[in-house]
Amino acid sequence: MSRKYDLVVIGAGSGGVRAARMAATYGAKVAILEEYRLGGTCVIRGCVPKKLFVLASRYPETFDVAKSFGWTFGEPEFNWETLLANKDQEIDRLEGIYGNILGNANVEVIRDRGEITGPNSVKLVKAGEELQAERILVATGGTPFVPEIEGAELGISSNEAFHLEKLPARVLVNGGGYIAVEFAGIFAGLGVETTLAYRGDQILRGFDDTVRDMVAEQMRARGVDIRVKTDISKLEKAANGNITTSFANGDVEEYGQVMFATGRKPYLQGLGLETADVELTARGAIKVDAHSQTTCPSIYAVGDVTDRAALTPVAIREGAAFAETVYNNNDTVVDHSLIPTAVFSEPEIGTVGMSEAEAGARYENVNVYVSTFRPMQNTLSTRPEKMLFKLITDGDSDKVLGVHIVGPSAGEMIQMVGIAVSMGATKADLDRTIAVHPTAAEELVTLKAPSYQLKEGERVA
Ligand code: NDP
Repeated sequence: MSRKYDLVVIGAGSGGVRAARMAATYGAKVAILEEYRLGGTCVIRGCVPKKLFVLASRYPETFDVAKSFGWTFGEPEFNWETLLANKDQEIDRLEGIYGNILGNANVEVIRDRGEITGPNSVKLVKAGEELQAERILVATGGTPFVPEIEGAELGISSNEAFHLEKLPARVLVNGGGYIAVEFAGIFAGLGVETTLAYRGDQILRGFDDTVRDMVAEQMRARGVDIRVKTDISKLEKAANGNITTSFANGDVEEYGQVMFATGRKPYLQGLGLETADVELTARGAIKVDAHSQTTCPSIYAVGDVTDRAALTPVAIREGAAFAETVYNNNDTVVDHSLIPTAVFSEPEIGTVGMSEAEAGARYENVNVYVSTFRPMQNTLSTRPEKMLFKLITDGDSDKVLGVHIVGPSAGEMIQMVGIAVSMGATKADLDRTIAVHPTAAEELVTLKAPSYQLKEGERVA
């Protein structure tokens, strides 16, 4: 007799855990399958350890600025092994918390790989047992995509970057998206000679152009050698253990590590979706409707495996909406239209809503407010880095269309202003808000006349 469940969740990451826990709380009999560790990419080899590395990498600058406030101290020393060990300890703690949360909600945790064998059955690959499920939720997340380059297997992805035995003297990061800029900042901050090679004209495609330019400029000022329009053609192992890297332009250089941060793809391998006629999108993700239901009515999918917005908070919302709709009779749909997000590059980025280019393409009259200034912590030192606040509004309705912040705590600030933007705030609403002084964020409520305007997408004044 095979075990029977109301819901079998495949993948105990952000989306799967939230859905499993809530469904069980609403009375469903739930099992969650995980082949690796509880917590998924975000907790185990993504957002959380990445942010810990980012925090570690920012200390040299803090030490530098501290001197301008009168502090003196000996030469600070960094120990990579200590950071790794402490990071691993924290990840273990968080994984334990995930286990407790699931256990307390009466979700059965099964440490095995799940393979769908039909609309209502999942096989445990190691144990060989087949589970029966009224519904199946696929929440298997994503996995790094590495381009087909000769010798690419010599490089690493972010997965391995969290476990390097030692930091290389020189690193090459390939890509210009979230992970590439964040890891370039981490490596450079920790003293590694860092090159970032990106195939396009400017890093961070899709972000506001002012943000892209400013981040690239400041990353360069912090020592990252950003090379745009640059493609890698071949990797080879050098006799000294380094990686000889050939570029498409003919250059050949040696690096201790080459890291591919060239995007992620839905993790579908061996999942057995074909046994239940689950259709995929053109980009190879699981096709779902607004309720995260696949083309097989008993199978749902949430998170990165659906390629809607590959962000933990989005996966959590999708998992929660699924549980609300299916197990609490509360029809819930996630709004993917306005997602505040932060990039923990150095400098940090916070962004919500449209870029200037997007607003110009969609609105006839657009007001653009731009303010750059040196953050207070730099004013006593000679550090040149500036902050950016950019506000984009509809010239006709006064509605805020986009906010873009670059500099310290941009991620924290964008979460707050994201609330106002999602409520439909106008520029007048921001103006009416009394400033908190002296802060950087007060800039958002003290922007006076537009820096310039767009009419039908063209800059007019
Ligand atoms: P991104 O999609 O952000 O960036 C991928 C980068 O790789 C782009 O610059 C892309 O170039 C480049 N690229 C893609 N294919 C190739 C190729 N064949 N050869 C050379 N370059 C290539 O992916 P990431 O891996 O950085 O991150 C994955 C996702 O994880 C993000 O989209 C984000 O949703 C999420 N994430 C979020 C974070 C956060 O919230 N702070 C942090 C980390 C990840 P091009 O621009 O030309 O396409």
